[in-house]
Amino acid sequence: MLPDFRVRQRDYLLEISRAITEQLELPTVLKRILQAAVELTAGQAGLIALREGGRWRLRAYVGIPEQFVSAFDPLLADIPDHDDPERFEIPEVSRRLQRIGAVASLGLLTGVGLPMIARREVVGLIFILRGYGNQFSANDRALLSSFAVQAAIAVHNAVLYQQVSAEKRRLDAVLDAYADGVLIIDPAGKITRFNRALSTLTALPAPEALGLHHDDIIRWAHRPAGPDLNAAMADGWPLPGTTAPLYVEGDLLRRNGGIVPVGISYAAVFDREGRLVNVIADVHDMTRIREAEELKSTFVSVVSHELKTPVALIKGYAETLSREDATWDRETVRDSLAVIIDEADRLTELIESLLDASRLQSGDLKLNLSEVALDVLARQLIEKFKTQTTRHTLVADFPAGFPEVLGDEERLRQVLSNLLSNAIKYAPNGGEIRVRGISKPDAVELRVSDEGAGIAAHDLPHVFDRFYRAEGDLTRRVKGTGLGLFLTRAIVKAHGGEIRADSEPNKGATFTVTLPRYNGDLAS
Ligand code: ADP
Repeated sequence: MLPDFRVRQRDYLLEISRAITEQLELPTVLKRILQAAVELTAGQAGLIALREGGRWRLRAYVGIPEQFVSAFDPLLADIPDHDDPERFEIPEVSRRLQRIGAVASLGLLTGVGLPMIARREVVGLIFILRGYGNQFSANDRALLSSFAVQAAIAVHNAVLYQQVSAEKRRLDAVLDAYADGVLIIDPAGKITRFNRALSTLTALPAPEALGLHHDDIIRWAHRPAGPDLNAAMADGWPLPGTTAPLYVEGDLLRRNGGIVPVGISYAAVFDREGRLVNVIADVHDMTRIREAEELKSTFVSVVSHELKTPVALIKGYAETLSREDATWDRETVRDSLAVIIDEADRLTELIESLLDASRLQSGDLKLNLSEVALDVLARQLIEKFKTQTTRHTLVADFPAGFPEVLGDEERLRQVLSNLLSNAIKYAPNGGEIRVRGISKPDAVELRVSDEGAGIAAHDLPHVFDRFYRAEGDLTRRVKGTGLGLFLTRAIVKAHGGEIRADSEPNKGATFTVTLPRYNGDLAS
């Protein structure tokens, strides 16, 4: 039969090995070890300290009321400040404990302290305390020593487990905060990691993606121009030991049926033996790049077309006038010069619009604020536009005492001028064009309406976009760059206002500008 303490030792060591294998969180492991050690040695209380940040810190205790735990700090202060077991010596604790026991109202205490050594490192200290007079025997010490060895392994594992978990959480957080989509697959193509950005890109929650195959997620709307992952792998990518990434660009099918342009960089990860462990895919959303490319090509085509036409006219008329073999009557000369002047004005206007658009992009549109009477401004502009059309009736419709707004007069003139010129351009058959002023409690509204062809419902949301021109015969016949309304909206927004377009086909269009009401205080 085993002696009693051997039976106890076996049972408690079993408990410890369970704590080792269960991979519990560190606090639970410490508590279990301590509980077992106190019971094993018939102790009254116990403490475990771990070395953290170069200091010994109390991490678990049993049998000590919480308010007295800090009384044990002096005990830890005398412990060697290193983790080398060769040089490690715990000072005699019993005398210190007598003082602490009195302070902590635990009565007179005696105790033992042992280092917990795992992998040639002191990972922790364990103290077992008893009532004074019940000294620790050599047996007790031997028991506690063998126990401390096992406990040290449990603590060591729990610390490692905690570090690994913390590292994994950190990695997860980094991946989730990463702006690009990240997909990690195993050699069989199964998804083992799927970050938040990729969830958004693919419209698929990460938990649903884990375990799926790469090809369930990376589905192309059209075949990419170069080889995709499967084609490249069939061709021998990735060569073990090489780091050359694979780049695939194309239109990705989203789970909700949409399409998003992406560029995917695949990188292969090998183990030491040169076996493929993972493929990491960085999925970059190319929407903005594509938009910028489209914008650039629209810009080039609009600008070249719009610049070329007036330049060609100016050159043509100037060449004709300068021919030495012909004489021109005064009227022809005057008409030709009028065309040259008009076209030069058009060029200036276009260049101004382009400069404004680029100022806007760099956030450089500055307003020169003063009190502006929109009704006066509207009447002036209407008089000016009346000289350009005989087909249209231009009407200013403002109530008496229409309030002034705080704004940049020149920029607001540009707004009204754009809207009026569009109303004339896009109602080529004539009709009434009305500028109506409406005064509201905290805003003023300007409505410019015409009786032209109107704007189709699918064009309405886009008419304020840069370079946007509605498709159609009329737009093709009418000169324009698609910049007017874009700039108009930017100016209105810079004033803290809003602009809206309403239209029903063949019933004309109405543009409503809302500007905040001016309370008479320039500073506000
Ligand atoms: P542009 O007149 O130079 O083409 P804008 O930015 O001023 O550019 O207008 C954008 C588009 O909105 C126009 O091409 C036209 O299709 C449409 N649009 C603007 N104003 C009107 C209007 N009053 N009636 C019908 N369509 C309009």
